[in-house]
Amino acid sequence: MLPSDTIWFDGQLIPWDQATVHVAAHVIHYGSSVFEGIRAYALPDGPAVFCLKEHLDRLWDSCKIYRIEIPYTRQEIHQAILDTIRANAHKACYIRPVVFRGWDSFSLDGRACPTHVSIITMEMGKYLGPDALEKGVSVGVSSWQRMAPNTYPAGAKIGGQYINSQFIAMEAVDHGYVEGIALDVNGYVSEGSGENIFLVRRGRLLTPPVACSILDGITRQCIITLAGEMGLEVCEEQISRELLYLADEMFFCGTAAEITPICSVDDITVGSGKRGPITTRLSETFFDIVEGRVPDRYGWLTPVN
Ligand code: PMP
Repeated sequence: MLPSDTIWFDGQLIPWDQATVHVAAHVIHYGSSVFEGIRAYALPDGPAVFCLKEHLDRLWDSCKIYRIEIPYTRQEIHQAILDTIRANAHKACYIRPVVFRGWDSFSLDGRACPTHVSIITMEMGKYLGPDALEKGVSVGVSSWQRMAPNTYPAGAKIGGQYINSQFIAMEAVDHGYVEGIALDVNGYVSEGSGENIFLVRRGRLLTPPVACSILDGITRQCIITLAGEMGLEVCEEQISRELLYLADEMFFCGTAAEITPICSVDDITVGSGKRGPITTRLSETFFDIVEGRVPDRYGWLTPVN
């Protein structure tokens, strides 16, 4: 990924190279941050941010869980995101707001540390590879499980707990897969390292419930909305590993991964091994909205200009 020109850091737009953090900052030692990943899409009349309100709500929720206070209002961060996109003249981009604890001490209770906020925007292509959205990706079930609910709160985007996601992602690559699927502590399917998962089986759409240690993804909620609109039955239920091998279709979804078909799991072909018809319909409907080819009937887009 290439750096952009400007970063919003503690209330100011500054050059990329100047947006630095002290080595003694709490966040470097203990992963003391909360973040979001948001996309802005290129529409005919300029960029528009996808589900900005939902992402800001989740940022605030994650901060509440982690007991870190954002020293700005929601409106200020909303504005700062639009300002940063404009300052970098992006047509489309990935947006990474991050709230983190700076330097005070090495005490594990870092609540006395100053809170910093930054917004990074950058160009981002297809997260799981240039052909991933059409051809699909091969994945493997990870030997790393998602965290048990009483260890880390999977429903919050807290920096430190992404070490779990890093293990899942690194292992998948080392085993020759594009991505891994983690099971939860009870052995049921949870999610990818940075994506939620859906299966199609006998015409129904299945996805793990939030209780299976997933992040309640914003794209996941949009898929559930679009599936409902198409009259598809959507079931949020525990999914056993073997069902991964028997699915007719399967896909990951997330801000970065968008809607990425899964063509094999543990080297077993999923369905036809290609993007299936339901995945294709959901994907086309999704991109028609976010790229502005049809009206934004759910109010998902915030124009930047
Ligand atoms: N699960 C994890 C662990 C993630 O990091 C992400 C990306 N934020 C998702 C799922 C997908 O969530 P969203 O659709 O909100 O990007």
